[in-house]
This record gives sequence, structure tokens and C-alpha cells, in this order.
Amino acid sequence: MIDTTEIPYIDVHTHNKEKEEGITVFNLLNEDDAVIDEEGRKYSLGIHPWYIDDMTVEKHYEFIDKYINNENVIAIGECGLDKLVNVPSALQKEILTYQFQLAEKLNKPVIIHCVRAYEELLALKKKLDFGQTMIIHGFNSSPKIGDMLIKAGFYFSFGKAILKDDSNAAKIIKKFSSGRLFLETDDSKRSIIKIYERAASLMQIDIEELKVIIYKNYQKVFSK
Ligand SMILES: [Zn+2]
Repeated sequence: MIDTTEIPYIDVHTHNKEKEEGITVFNLLNEDDAVIDEEGRKYSLGIHPWYIDDMTVEKHYEFIDKYINNENVIAIGECGLDKLVNVPSALQKEILTYQFQLAEKLNKPVIIHCVRAYEELLALKKKLDFGQTMIIHGFNSSPKIGDMLIKAGFYFSFGKAILKDDSNAAKIIKKFSSGRLFLETDDSKRSIIKIYERAASLMQIDIEELKVIIYKNYQKVFSK
């Protein structure tokens, strides 16, 4: 029996600069987001499809180069494909391909942002024969898409959407009793503890049990 009082809460994806208790993976988007060495603070680093046009592709790549070898940068992302953003799909795919290849080279997991482009995402994964762990963050799409991604081996990270009773996320999280699951705050001001409490109640398990499941997933995916 593991002593669960020692097991930290893990927020696998956040934009909140105020660090909460436990382990948080803060998402670096640009130079405004400084890398701070603080106990329990980890980082993901990548090019978000929303911000591709903020600077040249070369500048984005320079930003990644600058921080990617910091020992606290543990994942690539958030990166992905978004049909609702006004950036050509071909460019989004090119930039995502670069990040997948980098993840493969560095043996790091990837945190995925995907809006209405799951088929394309799966096609790219297949084309590149991409072998690193992929975590779909903020999942709240249809159960059909959820099942497709579960089958394809993705991890899921759920956030504030599970707080709504009738959301897809609240329905699908019930399938994750011991599965490939993480939790996150993303840009929400809700605490990660609230998200854990809600997830545990939806999954009908004890919060301590949930902490163990997520901690084990964290060790498996991020401790390489
Ligand atoms: Zn985010």
C-alpha cells in the first residue's frame, strides 16, 4: 500500500503563473513566460496554432532552441491543429511536423491542442510513424472521437469542462477508471484540487485513488 499523503496533485497543463501545490506543468508560449526554477514547477514548450502568426517561424524555432534543453522542460507543446484559427492548414501541419520530429529526437511526450482536426492529426501521426506519448489536452469532443483516440493510444487530459454535467468530457472521463488520464487547469482559475475532486466523483473513486492513478501515469510518461 502506497502512502497517498505523499502523492502530489499534478496539473499537467496550465497557463497560470501562480503555482499551486503539487507538480504543475506550465506552458511556455513566448519570451514573456520565464522559466523559473522552483520545486515542483515543470514546463512544456511549443508552438500553439493560435500564435503561429505572432512571429516568424524562425523566431518560434529559436525560442524553442533556447529552452528545450532545460531539465525542467519535460514536454513539447501545446501544439497541434485548429480548424477555427486563421492560419493555413498546410503551415499548421508543417510546424506540427517539426515539433513531432523534435519530440522524437528528444524522446519527449507531446501535449496536443486539437480543434476539429482529429482525422488530420491521426493521419500525421501515422505518416510520421510517431512513437512518443501524445496527450490530448482539454478534451471535450464527441464520445465517438474519444473512442477513436483511446483506440489509437492517446492519453487524455481533462479540465474545467468536466465541471459541467452535460459536457462530453464529463461523460467520457467515466471510461478512464485506471486508464491514460491526466488533469489540468489550462487557462481556468479553478484550482487543480477542485478538478481532482470533480473527476473522482464522476469516476466514482476515492480522490486518493485518483491521485495514485495520475501520479503513476506521470511517472510513466514523463520520467525518462
Ligand atoms: Zn492551454
